[in-house]
Amino acid sequence: MSKRRDKGLKLLAEGKVLQVKEGEFVVKSEKGDKEYRVVWNRDRWTCECPDFKKGVKCKHIYASMYYLAVRDVKNAATTLKEERTCKNCGRDDEVIKKGIRYNKSGPVQMYYCKRCGKKFSARTGFGGMKKRAEAIVAALDLYFRGLSLRQVAQHLKASYNVEVCHKTVHNWIKRYVKLVNEFVKSVNLDSSARWHVDDSVIKVKGDHIRIWTLLDSETRFILAIHISKSRGAEEALKLLKKGLEVSKKPEEIVSDGLKSYEKAISQKFSGVIHIQSSLREGLNNRAERFFKELKRRVKVMDGFKTRKGAETFVEGYRIYYNFIKKHSSLNDRTPAQSAALSEDCSWLELILRASKR
Ligand SMILES: [Zn+2]
Ligand SMILES: [Zn+2]
Repeated sequence: MSKRRDKGLKLLAEGKVLQVKEGEFVVKSEKGDKEYRVVWNRDRWTCECPDFKKGVKCKHIYASMYYLAVRDVKNAATTLKEERTCKNCGRDDEVIKKGIRYNKSGPVQMYYCKRCGKKFSARTGFGGMKKRAEAIVAALDLYFRGLSLRQVAQHLKASYNVEVCHKTVHNWIKRYVKLVNEFVKSVNLDSSARWHVDDSVIKVKGDHIRIWTLLDSETRFILAIHISKSRGAEEALKLLKKGLEVSKKPEEIVSDGLKSYEKAISQKFSGVIHIQSSLREGLNNRAERFFKELKRRVKVMDGFKTRKGAETFVEGYRIYYNFIKKHSSLNDRTPAQSAALSEDCSWLELILRASKR
C-alpha cells in the first residue's frame, strides 16, 4: 500500500494530474505514455487502470486524492487576505500596498489604508507575499505527507511557478515548524486516563538515535516526545516526566514491557498501573502505529545528516500527527479535534494562529 501512496505523491509532484471537472481527473502514467481517468463518485474512487481492477487503491487514485488535499490548502491560503485588513477600521476596500520593510525575520509587506490615512504591516508571519505563502503551506503539507525536499521543489515550480531550491524548502520547513511548535506547545490535555509509551530508533549519519513517544489512549494525541542515545530507565523517566508537564498523572501506562519503563514507573509513578503489551498482543498498537508511520516517512529521506535535523523533523511530524493528519480510527478527525483542543487542521491555520501571538 505504502508504495502506491508514494508513487501517487510522485505523480502529483511531477505535474501528471489534471482535474477535468469536479470529481474527475486524468492521471498520466509514470512513463507518460498512458492516461487513466479517475473518478470520485458517491464516496467511492474508481480508476481505469489494471491495478485498480485487481481491487486495490491504485497510485492514480492516491495522486488524485493528494491533488485535492493541495487544492484545499490553496483555497485556505486565500484567507491570507485578512492580512490586508486595516487594523483601524477593519475594512480592506481602500487598502493599498505600501512597500516592503525588512526586519529580522525577513521582508514584511506594508499596507496603507486611504480611509484612515494609516500605515500598517502584514500580520502574518509570511512577509505578506501571498504566492509564497501558498507555496510554503503546500511545501509543509506535502513534505510531512511524504514527498522529498526535491519533489516538493519540483511541485512548487509546476503548480505555483515558484522557483526555489530544495535547501530553501528545507529552510521554510525548519522555520515554520519552529513557529508552529511555539504555538502548539501551549495546547495540551489536562488529563489522560491511560498513557501509551513506546520507543524506536532512526538513523542519523550512520549512527542511531532513540525516539520515545507518549500518547493519550483515547485521542491518540501525542503528549511528549523524547530523544536520547541510550535505552535506560533514566531516559524512560525523562519521557514520563515530560508527560507530567502537560497532563496529570494517568491511572494506567501501557508499554511493551521494556524493563526501563517498569523501573521508571515503580520509581516515580507509584499507584499507576503498568500494563505490559507483551502479555497481550496488540495492546500497545496506538503507540506502535505512530512509529510505523513515522518510519515509513523517514524511509523516503534516506536517514538524517545531523541530530538537529532529525529533531526538527520529529517535531514537525508530531505537529502533523496531532493537528493535520485525519485518523480513520478517530472517524477522520485529528487527535487535536478529538480532544477538543483545536479545530485547526491545516498548516495555514496553525501558522496564522501562531503568528498572531
Ligand atoms: Zn489507477
Ligand atoms: Zn482603515
